[in-house]
Amino acid sequence: MDISNIKKVYSGRIGCACGCMGKYSYNDLPDTPDYASVNVRSVKIMAKRILNDSALVYSDCGRYAHVEDKVRNTSKIVYFVNPVVK
Ligand SMILES: [Zn+2]
Repeated sequence: MDISNIKKVYSGRIGCACGCMGKYSYNDLPDTPDYASVNVRSVKIMAKRILNDSALVYSDCGRYAHVEDKVRNTSKIVYFVNPVVK
């Protein structure tokens, strides 16, 4: 896993991903926005867990990858800096 290619991770409930139903953690990159809550350690841990999940789906031409657990009603998303083509 290339941590420098991960912009942010999302963890929340299934549905809206604006942040009202969950939380974003940002990687510490030059273009990380001022309002972002930077937490490199949690980005690393979460991204690793998400990207190793067997239910992982790449979306939006590889701009992000997500795992949904419909039983637990959780959604976890990894957003990439450069699209990851699978
Ligand atoms: Zn929302």
